Amino acid sequence: MSPHPCLSCGACCAYFRVSFYWAEPVPDQFTEKLNTHRSFMIGTDSSVEPRCVALQGVVGKHVSCGIYGNRPSPCREFEASFESGVENTRCSAARKAKGLSPLTPGDWK
Ligand code: SF4
Ligand code: SF4
Repeated sequence: MSPHPCLSCGACCAYFRVSFYWAEPVPDQFTEKLNTHRSFMIGTDSSVEPRCVALQGVVGKHVSCGIYGNRPSPCREFEASFESGVENTRCSAARKAKGLSPLTPGDWK
């Protein structure tokens, strides 16, 4: 199989606000309090140019998550389109916003 499509994408890490229950074991220096119950990944709440502080590399070229083993639940649960056979329209929307075409079933062959 070709390399995992997310490794040349990263669009979702630079598009959505990534928030989660504050007590998740995500390294503190990468997070900020959103409210009493929730924190978010620094950089993902920007209305201008969101980008998670833990994202390494160039979106659409080559990326990696600097805290992969400790990334928060929304990142663990976010499925790339057709990874398990169905489209994730949020994946497609993030890719579109970064000028990338949506993934297709063929990307997983
Ligand atoms: S923690 Fe990692 S996977 Fe989650 S948004 Fe940031 S760079 Fe992406
Ligand atoms: S937008 Fe989709 S393809 Fe891109 S990194 Fe996120 S899940 Fe993977």
